[in-house]
Amino acid sequence: MNHDEDNEVSRHLPTVLVLAGHDPTGGAGLIADAESVAACGGWALTVPTALTVQNCHDVIAVSSVSGSAIRQAAGALRDMPLEAIKIGLIADLEALDAVVDVVRQRPGVPVVADPVLRAGGGCELATQELIDAYCERLLPLVDILTPNRQELARLAGTDYGDDTERAVSLMRQGCQALLVTGTDTPLERVPADRVEHILHAPDVDRQWSWPRLPGQFHGSGCTLASALATRLAVGESLVAACEQAQVFTWQALAHGWDSGVGQRLPRRLWRLPPASFALHEVKV
Ligand code: PLP
Repeated sequence: MNHDEDNEVSRHLPTVLVLAGHDPTGGAGLIADAESVAACGGWALTVPTALTVQNCHDVIAVSSVSGSAIRQAAGALRDMPLEAIKIGLIADLEALDAVVDVVRQRPGVPVVADPVLRAGGGCELATQELIDAYCERLLPLVDILTPNRQELARLAGTDYGDDTERAVSLMRQGCQALLVTGTDTPLERVPADRVEHILHAPDVDRQWSWPRLPGQFHGSGCTLASALATRLAVGESLVAACEQAQVFTWQALAHGWDSGVGQRLPRRLWRLPPASFALHEVKV
């Protein structure tokens, strides 16, 4: 084995623990997360919090994974190094409590949470009771939350006049920062051919504007949040990680594909060439 191969084998990959739902289409959920993490240079440890029945039109049913199964799966990974945690779909209070316990056992690890409250197709994925508990129990453990504008409004409630006030109210509840995506319900001042995302953090506010891609995508939120978790795991600053995650997501969407039924699917591994493996390339 030469020196380069040796380094390849002993190389440490930044690991991201993903606690999220499974989406059989591969557009969203754990598969989206694992692909994003890998494509951004990390290694995903995946713990399912829910199984969904869905297609590229909408979610049809959700079965939450039991709290004990979530704790057990995460517990068995206790000895693995961990550089970030990404949280996606949490479907009931029992799963929420298990996720909170898992995060508490890893103090100091950056936590990215993507609140999944409603599917792009319209299916409701969270009750008001679950949203209240999410804010009370999980938000204080979150380093950066990645809601879209509708999710931000539902999490913050009706007492606030604009997104900045809503973001500040969630930061008061304990989350350190928010990256609010504006694809779903654009602000009036944003031109129709652009999308704008805004970072709210105590010491910095930043906004990014991107060309709007045609079509409806399934799983863009998961792609963004997992990419962000991985860039934080690599050690990037919050602003740099937010920017890199957006560039990555925009490209995955721009290279996305259309199965012919329903929403388009992001292609996070678009850089991989079509495989053609020769036997002699495998050294035995
Ligand atoms: N299913 C799962 C497991 C998810 O995690 C998500 C979003 O994060 C969805 C469905 C909904 O995806 P979208 O809103 O992109 O349709």
